[in-house]
Amino acid sequence: MVLGEIVSPKFAKRVRVFMREVGVSEELRGWSWDSGILSPPLKGVFLGVSDVAARYCPTRRDVYLKYVEGVVVKPTLPMVEGRVYHDIISGVVLGVKRCLYSSGLVAGFELYGRLVEDCVGRVRGIVSRCVRLLEEEPCVEDVERIVERGVRLWRFLALQFSASVDRFVSTHGSLDLDSVVAEAVPHIVEYKVDGSPLGLSRELSVDVLYPGYTVVEVKTGSRRDFHRLYLAGYALAFEADKEIPVNMGVLIYVRAGRSPTPFFKVEEYVLGDELRREFIEARDEVFEIIENERDPGKPLKCYPYCPYYKYC
Ligand code: SF4
Repeated sequence: MVLGEIVSPKFAKRVRVFMREVGVSEELRGWSWDSGILSPPLKGVFLGVSDVAARYCPTRRDVYLKYVEGVVVKPTLPMVEGRVYHDIISGVVLGVKRCLYSSGLVAGFELYGRLVEDCVGRVRGIVSRCVRLLEEEPCVEDVERIVERGVRLWRFLALQFSASVDRFVSTHGSLDLDSVVAEAVPHIVEYKVDGSPLGLSRELSVDVLYPGYTVVEVKTGSRRDFHRLYLAGYALAFEADKEIPVNMGVLIYVRAGRSPTPFFKVEEYVLGDELRREFIEARDEVFEIIENERDPGKPLKCYPYCPYYKYC
């Protein structure tokens, strides 16, 4: 499984059993935003899901600097590299759909050929756009390293999706195009959600929304426990915005390092009460710092790649 069949039948079954036997409390569904625990304690401030979930700074001095001191930071090189890989995933998913809808059903090898045609130029374009966000111009070696890894990721994904189309068509015979796309590339990338009822941004962007209302977050750095909070945040926001339950969340770690094939690690989460409560507590901690203009101080050990380092 790599971005193709994101939700395994085994996981879907586990979620179904969990919902039947345990379930999610009504007060912790996003649509209950107007009362109780979900109601934002501070009005008029709208946080990004990452302001809440990205707990790289153990004391949350980063949110104090951002919202109270008004410090604006530029992204670091690892953050920019992560942005590049996200854009490549979106680029390939959209490329597959564009190609199929404009040319009709084609064989997998032909689809692959079209997707990788000029992929070096496409990736270089993404990288140059993203590195412009850095404070200082990066060295050529860093740019070339990101381009090289990005191209490998692009080709790898193109191959996976092309094979996915072939696999589906070869087992089901001649089908209408919409069914092929829905089965082989069902992902909706950068899906917009209004999280404002929960005190979150009006323009949240879910990395991938998968059929069956599953939120997917793609991560490119090291695995961290708090990454699962992103899933709870997007699920709550989606429920608040659409009034539709979201019970499944998937974290995908992508590493496009030196190995010829990118590495993908998938973690599946049932979005139960515990995770939802953890997200809301983290949101309220951020609101408390902003409301009381409270400087939480520095931790014993800082996150080594913290973008606030020079302001702190
Ligand atoms: S430099 Fe340290 S204290 Fe300051 S925001 Fe970053 S991690 Fe937190």
